[in-house]
Amino acid sequence: MSILEYVSLQPYNTFGLDATAHYFCRVQSKSDIQYLIEDEWQYYRQHLIIGGGSNLLFCSNVDGLAIINEIVGIEIIKEDDDYVWIQCLSGTTWHDVVLYCVDRDWYGIENLSLIPGTIGAAPMQNIGAYGAELKDVFEELEAIDLRTAKSKIFSNAACEFGYRESIFKKAEKGNYFIYSVTLKLHKKPKINTAYGDIQKVISEKNILHPTAKDISDAVISIRESKLPNPKVLGNAGSFFKNPEVEKTLALQIQHSHPNLPMYELENGKVKIPAAWLIEQCGWKGKKIGNTGNHAKQALVIVNYGNASGTEIWQHAQQVQLSVNETFGIHLEPEVNVWL
Ligand SMILES: Cc1cc2nc3c(=O)[nH]c(=O)nc-3n(C[C@H](O)[C@H](O)[C@H](O)COP(=O)(O)OP(=O)(O)OC[C@H]3O[C@@H](n4cnc5c(N)ncnc54)[C@H](O)[C@@H]3O)c2cc1C
Repeated sequence: MSILEYVSLQPYNTFGLDATAHYFCRVQSKSDIQYLIEDEWQYYRQHLIIGGGSNLLFCSNVDGLAIINEIVGIEIIKEDDDYVWIQCLSGTTWHDVVLYCVDRDWYGIENLSLIPGTIGAAPMQNIGAYGAELKDVFEELEAIDLRTAKSKIFSNAACEFGYRESIFKKAEKGNYFIYSVTLKLHKKPKINTAYGDIQKVISEKNILHPTAKDISDAVISIRESKLPNPKVLGNAGSFFKNPEVEKTLALQIQHSHPNLPMYELENGKVKIPAAWLIEQCGWKGKKIGNTGNHAKQALVIVNYGNASGTEIWQHAQQVQLSVNETFGIHLEPEVNVWL
């Protein structure tokens, strides 16, 4: 494994931002990462693990070591009549894992089709879409402690998953390299077509008994019609999380905005789509300089070509401010901002 100097990270982030890593390497095995931790770590001021770079906004250069995760592989580790357990090494592309499962008619992650990035980053924010979340199929992960180079197993409960949350974004932030993720999938059909347009697409195709592949294809076509392709227009998907607010505040907003979409949560709070709030403040499709909110999905902030990370971050903060001033709601970024 060689450590290079002054490498552009432009090919390694979906915003397409030209940040520079002072030092740069690729890890392709467990021993590569253990070597880095034991023999190299101490020499760098900063360390950044990069998977697919699809949830990262570079506002500055990496004044230290950027590590590209290329540790790939999928292995069946156990199965019975109802379930199969697969262990995926963390640099494996998430959508490749989805295709691996739907091709074998295993159920559980088809609704999460086409989410960019690696499986190693998926537990970081408990990726979710179309009524499914990683935690629904997550069995355990193996992580390597960046302070000691020792391995540790985290069960589903130990990961403390929440909505776009996990222990790796909170108490254990920056402490572990996620090495592998084990998923438990259903071998018998177990589908969820309730969310978004999935059922509509399935019905239009006259499919009576959809397979995992049918659901995956439907999700892919819906996502392709709604979300900008980062290869064409740089972005990192949803920029903000959907806020959870007190019910009294939601009812207050509903008084002046009777069309307010809201979803009651088990904890008594109410979830409001961030996209709706942003749209009400007039940001949908608004382009300012080299950045702006996408015309089809206001929650996605895009790079129209030559934006800097700082320009995108300043734009996001303007959006945040106007939603706060209009509705008294603070939007929390979902994207990891490298300041
Ligand atoms: C078009 C588009 C659509 C998207 N749609 C969705 C969606 O529907 N649902 C959703 O949840 N997300 C979505 N995302 C966000 C993103 O794809 C996910 O968050 C994804 O899991 C990020 O994976 P990555 O490998 O690109 O992570 P990166 O961006 O490379 O890294 C994200 C964070 O995880 C850390 N990290 C990465 N790998 C490891 C590792 N092995 N060990 C420890 N830390 C690590 C990084 O240091 C960084 O802090 C979307 C993004 C785009 C561009």
